[in-house]
Amino acid sequence: MNADSTITALEAAEALCAKRGERLTPVRRRVLELVLTAPGPVKAYDLLEALKPGSGTAKPPTVYRALDFLIGLGLVHKVEALNAFVGCSTIHSHPGGCAELFICTHCGAVEERHGAPVSTHTPEGFRIERSVIEHFGHCSNCDH
Ligand SMILES: [Zn+2]
Ligand SMILES: [Zn+2]
Repeated sequence: MNADSTITALEAAEALCAKRGERLTPVRRRVLELVLTAPGPVKAYDLLEALKPGSGTAKPPTVYRALDFLIGLGLVHKVEALNAFVGCSTIHSHPGGCAELFICTHCGAVEERHGAPVSTHTPEGFRIERSVIEHFGHCSNCDH
């Protein structure tokens, strides 16, 4: 994500937090910014490292709590298979529902698509709040 779209995304995140009556605290904002500007999926460990200089207070629980918060709002998705995090590709206008992640097992690139139909066999009375489907394969760069 380039600098301009990162700023737009952070503003969108602020607005979303305000709407939910939440606060995008400095550490939450910083974590989101780091995830958005990373070239690929980010490990929690990398975030801890990046947060160290200056802040001094970026203890692991702080970072994990910030990540949980951002995931809950759909601003960040966890890539379970990689145990890493990606910024939502549609952060400007998150449609909610199901996010599908297409993970290249060769180079580790993750592409995101939204709006796929949510499961048609949801148990009765179960209210889906968020879904992330992970697909594995080769991206167009690696599929020769
Ligand atoms: Zn998303
Ligand atoms: Zn690839």
